[in-house]
Amino acid sequence: MTKRWMVGALLYSLIAAPAVAQWLPNAQAVPGGIAVVTLNASSEPRPTAHYRKHPVLITEHEGRWTALIGVPLDASTGEHHLGWKRPQQAEVQSRFQVVAKDYPEQHITIKDKRKVNPEKRDYDRIRKESERLGHARKIWRDTTFSDLELQLPVEGRRSSAFGLKRFYNEQARKPHSGLDIAAAEGSPVVAPLGGVVILTGDLFFSGNTVFLDHGQGLLSSYAHLSKVLVSTGDHLSSGQMLGRVGQTGRATGPHLHWSVYLNQTRIDPALLLR
Ligand SMILES: [Zn+2]
Repeated sequence: MTKRWMVGALLYSLIAAPAVAQWLPNAQAVPGGIAVVTLNASSEPRPTAHYRKHPVLITEHEGRWTALIGVPLDASTGEHHLGWKRPQQAEVQSRFQVVAKDYPEQHITIKDKRKVNPEKRDYDRIRKESERLGHARKIWRDTTFSDLELQLPVEGRRSSAFGLKRFYNEQARKPHSGLDIAAAEGSPVVAPLGGVVILTGDLFFSGNTVFLDHGQGLLSSYAHLSKVLVSTGDHLSSGQMLGRVGQTGRATGPHLHWSVYLNQTRIDPALLLR
């Protein structure tokens, strides 16, 4: 390699760097996916946006403010609207199309029948836990992202994809709300991106659980852990260990159930892996 070429390559990488610094997920405006909507020039102040009354994540991409909208699994296909506004200006609407996606069925046998049809005495606990989770989901912390690409929280086989239509002991239940990664009991689970711990606990269905806030409504949760190694309020950097794989709660074997949220909506975590 000549010296001149090396200097050229170095200059090129310096000039090219800002354009590739902000990676965006593949736009898949499907139920359970992410709609990417381009807004105004990023030389202007950052706008605010909402979808179905919830604030929406906005990041800079190639000189434009860009909204990343989590599309709910039960969203209808067709035209949807994002409301957004520049500071001190009237709100405008941007349209985007949601197209259908057919998720396969999955049939699971659970030996602990109480985890499929909870008993009366479990209801009180389940209701309190779903309130706690509901509060966590609403957390909004303003931040700017230098990177939105997530790293895998644990190495292992992807054993159940997001969105599968689930049947427990042949009874229809809610679709699979995360991505399952099978790994040996005790395998380390790490934060896929920097964030703040907003909830930890032993929950009826998800067992030992950690919830992370990455900012602007991008949240993630880690279920069925054998061990939780962090506490609420902890600031984690990308790759920092938060717990260990287990099979607590409603699980048929050791695995991580990983959920990712945008605008209070669970989306397929795989969409944010490069
Ligand atoms: Zn799962």
